[in-house]
Amino acid sequence: MTDSPRIHLGSLLRSSTEDAHAEGSLDHLQYEQGRTLHTLRFAGPAPFEVDVNALGSNEMYLQGTFEPVLVMECARCLRDVDVPLEISLGTLMRYDPSADAPYLEEAETGEEVLVFGDPDLDLSAYLAETTLLNAPLSVLHDEACRGLCQVCGHDLNEGPCEHMAQVPVEEIDDQLGTPEGSLHARQNPFAALADLKLPEE
Ligand SMILES: [Zn+2]
Ligand SMILES: [Zn+2]
Repeated sequence: MTDSPRIHLGSLLRSSTEDAHAEGSLDHLQYEQGRTLHTLRFAGPAPFEVDVNALGSNEMYLQGTFEPVLVMECARCLRDVDVPLEISLGTLMRYDPSADAPYLEEAETGEEVLVFGDPDLDLSAYLAETTLLNAPLSVLHDEACRGLCQVCGHDLNEGPCEHMAQVPVEEIDDQLGTPEGSLHARQNPFAALADLKLPEE
């Protein structure tokens, strides 16, 4: 198991005839977002394999694979859901000694370029971002998940609680943000708008 995925590009930068290779497996990935450290959890060791070859003048091309089973939370009841991903990696890279931490930059062609300043390149941020781009925005542990009671947080998959046990999940969602007493917003979200009586001022 590898702590952080690294690839050593020193000799590739010195002599562009050599390719660089790295492989290993990760049990999680940490990445920074808005100065907060986040962790991507994996259900098991997630294998990665990366090859980098030189394109000349500090530019390189990275290709490889990353196959994590990402652990996400069910959007309704928050229980863990395993999301297997098979990610093909293919990214232009540019060596820029002034770059503190590696980052993705959008080139004029619209392609993303991984810019890095340390030849001992830590791929954590790159792999984390690529994983998030390939992951679904939200998952359900089951299409029929009943979610959590919005009053007490009880998991309604495990049975009813005293509050909203009788209200199907679909209607709970539709009622969000609907003024109390407005009963016509169930099926069509626009019905709510039509019904909304704006105060006359
Ligand atoms: Zn669920
Ligand atoms: Zn409840």
